[in-house]
Amino acid sequence: MAGAVPIQFCLVQQDSLGNPTTGITRHYTDTVMFMDSFLGNSQYFQTSTGGQEPWDPYHYLNIYVINRSYFAGTASSPSSHGAAWDGMAIQYTEFHQNSHVLTHEVGHYFGLFHIFGGTSGQGSCGDDMVADTPPQAYNLSCNYPVKSCGNTVSNDMVMNYMDYTPSSCKNMFTHGQADRMVSKLYSDRISLVNTPNCGSVGINTSSLNSVPIKLYPNPSSSSATLYMAQNLSGCILSLYSSLSKEVFRTTCQDQQITIPRNGLPSGLYYIRLMQNDQVLYTSKLIFE
Ligand SMILES: [Zn+2]
Repeated sequence: MAGAVPIQFCLVQQDSLGNPTTGITRHYTDTVMFMDSFLGNSQYFQTSTGGQEPWDPYHYLNIYVINRSYFAGTASSPSSHGAAWDGMAIQYTEFHQNSHVLTHEVGHYFGLFHIFGGTSGQGSCGDDMVADTPPQAYNLSCNYPVKSCGNTVSNDMVMNYMDYTPSSCKNMFTHGQADRMVSKLYSDRISLVNTPNCGSVGINTSSLNSVPIKLYPNPSSSSATLYMAQNLSGCILSLYSSLSKEVFRTTCQDQQITIPRNGLPSGLYYIRLMQNDQVLYTSKLIFE
């Protein structure tokens, strides 16, 4: 089932020095074609090799639109957050409104693997660490329905952004993929939230700004309580570990939710409250 990804970026209004900008910069290069390599070695991240250094990757998602030798796009994973090569690069012929190469790369940037399980090569029938995407082979065409990997129940998701199918048939992430992306934003990539110079990077919480929510005690040595000033019926509270694993989930019954410790080890956790596919509230929670 298709899931909404409640993450919104904006084009920056100021550069890191505070100067006005559209967020788009153009750089002349003598390099006719950038040779593809592992992201850390890629020439386009360095002036000395014909490219340009990225803006502070802790607070900006840098997208390079270049002429490159092989891949339509590449992206760094959440574990590279803040590295000198953190960002993504798209072949310029794939940078247009009918292409989903950028969508696919943003999926990688927020920790999604290919739906068929392979990370860089082709691979098939592997585990993409998402529960609602059954094992499947990679698909290079939009042919549908097709089944693979011994699956007799469901068809391959050729329409999933993380398959290898052409952009023309891609139109969805699953709920599980959306959850994984949000959990990576709120763990490895947490510094993107509340980025200066942009009013709307991060999760859109505007719909609930009028409803006060209190989380207490925090830090807590046992359970914690989330209190909402109004009954948000049907909302879903999830608790994530710092490794982005969902460790607790419950549906709102009234204005108060108890978040049980359930033997969880001490450390940093993340709370997310959702209603109708919208993120209403997020917070850190520390168990002592
Ligand atoms: Zn990919």
